[in-house]
Amino acid sequence: MDATPTFLEQLIAAGHLIPMGVDGLYGKSGVFEDILDKLDRLISRHGAAQQAEVMRFPPAISQQNFEESEYLKTFPHFAGTVHCFCGDEREHRRVLDCVAEGKDWTEGQKASGVVLTPAACYPSYPVIARRGPLSEQGVTLDLLSYCFRHEPSLEPTRLQLFRMREYVRMGTPEQVLAFRQHWLEEGEKMMRSLALPLIIDVANDPFFGRAGRVLAASQREQKLKFELLVPVNSEENPTACLSFNYHMDHFGLIWALRTPGDEVAHTACVGFGLERITLALFRHHGFDPKAWPAEVQAVLGGF
Ligand code: ATP
Ligand code: ZN
Ligand code: MG
Repeated sequence: MDATPTFLEQLIAAGHLIPMGVDGLYGKSGVFEDILDKLDRLISRHGAAQQAEVMRFPPAISQQNFEESEYLKTFPHFAGTVHCFCGDEREHRRVLDCVAEGKDWTEGQKASGVVLTPAACYPSYPVIARRGPLSEQGVTLDLLSYCFRHEPSLEPTRLQLFRMREYVRMGTPEQVLAFRQHWLEEGEKMMRSLALPLIIDVANDPFFGRAGRVLAASQREQKLKFELLVPVNSEENPTACLSFNYHMDHFGLIWALRTPGDEVAHTACVGFGLERITLALFRHHGFDPKAWPAEVQAVLGGF
């Protein structure tokens, strides 16, 4: 009996995702990348009025900044640390022997001082804090990074390495809340222009453990996180394609970000999951962008 292929299987058959032997790790077709680049430029057009400062960081941060961020308190299950061989020739032989015998060779690997970036905005806070107090206008950044989260899945929308475009705002509570409200509206406008069905809802992060449930409830109650969701894998469980986060003074306190009035700065960010929006377009308009509705093609600049 032939089962209907899953969305993941369809994407692989169409050549858009190239399996690499690990769930959540895929190569992408040229067409996939073309769409993703066009989305990146579309986001830039919607963000142009922000006059954001563009910064690009490699997909890793220092172990020190990672520890300071308190990511381990809430998301220990997602973290990806880079470990390396630092041994001598004797230890090298032991590693090769272990590989040959199918034993664990990774035990001797040592922390390299580098941790994979879990969200595109993480490298930016310590960098901006080092400049000194913010100006009256605060800071608005335009960021894009590959991000790592250890959440292997058979859903093509849940990758272990994915690209997150972000705008980040640092300033007074009024400035960052106005920024988030602006992006809630602008993000919806952008996604509607792509003819995607969507809802916006209050959300919570997938915090770890029992303490995490308390954090999640309080995050929802204070409406700190909103998501723009599009049905991609299923109608019942729509996928977060954009998220709108208000961190209050969390990062400001950690990295001593100050306003000109010497208050602790507040921060907010809007994150765009570039692979997820690409997948949403495939789901709703088909696997060939040349056959997409003319207005959607026009918004993206044509195929
Ligand atoms: P989810 O609710 O699906 O677990 P999230 O709330 O953890 O996602 P954020 O931490 O807000 O996501 O990340 C910002 C954006 O990055 C999300 O809106 C989404 O588009 C994208 N994203 C997050 N996790 C993944 C992933 N594993 N694979 C692909 N894109 C992702
Ligand atoms: Zn962010
Ligand atoms: Mg979420």
